[in-house]
Amino acid sequence: MTETIAIPTNAALQTDLRVVTTRDEMREVIAGARSDGKTIGLVPTMGALHEGHLSLVRKAKSECDLTIATIFVNPAQFGEQADLVQYPRTLDADLHSLSTLHVEVVFAPNNSEVYPPNFSTWIEPPDVGKHLEGEHRTGHFRGVATVVLKLFNMTMPDVAYFGEKDYQQLQVIRQMVVDLNLPITIRGCPIVRESDGLAMSSRNVRLDAQRRAQSLALSQSLQLAADLVNQGEADAVRIIEQMRAKIAGAGISQIDYIALADPETLEPVSQVTGPTRVLVAAHVGTTRLIDNRQIG
Ligand code: AMP
Repeated sequence: MTETIAIPTNAALQTDLRVVTTRDEMREVIAGARSDGKTIGLVPTMGALHEGHLSLVRKAKSECDLTIATIFVNPAQFGEQADLVQYPRTLDADLHSLSTLHVEVVFAPNNSEVYPPNFSTWIEPPDVGKHLEGEHRTGHFRGVATVVLKLFNMTMPDVAYFGEKDYQQLQVIRQMVVDLNLPITIRGCPIVRESDGLAMSSRNVRLDAQRRAQSLALSQSLQLAADLVNQGEADAVRIIEQMRAKIAGAGISQIDYIALADPETLEPVSQVTGPTRVLVAAHVGTTRLIDNRQIG
């Protein structure tokens, strides 16, 4: 868990963006903001920023006096070492994008700053994290919930912004905030997509032209589910069957799950009788992609 980040200086960035790497400095920044009566908005990210992340930043900027974006590739939420090693890291470009949006503070801690020696206290994720990603990525939400609580404690935000792109993660965090009485408002923000429908993701850069074309089947399968429901189909099994055929038809053979679920608990539903979340996860070549949308 050792990773050292070379942080460019503010002079090199030619910006007022304050790049903070330690908990102590973060504490100073927060104390200053609080004594000035400022509200704090937090946007946690793993970097390799794209328009999806930046939409959260814009929302935070529009609602809070001080926006803190965090950039931390959290080793504790990766199952496979290869995925962690291959995760894109584009710190210079990220800082440039954030300074263009006039973000005030970036918190980019090293691993040792987040996970001190002998670290061994973990958050057990709530039930909403048990299925879907929870089944296919053992320990993932334990790592997510733990690091998000740590980031909350280190930045003490009033409002924290998360994307619906990781819909189950959003529900896990919402439940954690309720369960642990955290005085933080959680804002879910809509998924930002490429013009052809592919949900933006830091992992998309790993797709070659053929995989990129195949990956479209995910968002198309979600659209298909919406169309079927609009045409009067309500049976989850039949909808999932047609979605599976669409995804498999694009040459994607490893589908982790296709689910129709209650939007709050993510318990599977057998009939679409009201607002329903449809979620998919599949491996496109060696890249695992997820997507979801509301139907019904
Ligand atoms: P990540 O860097 O992948 O951990 O994502 C950081 C935050 O950005 C999470 O709250 C994600 O849900 C959100 N996010 C990632 N991709 C998108 C997207 N395409 N649209 C909206 N939010 C996104």
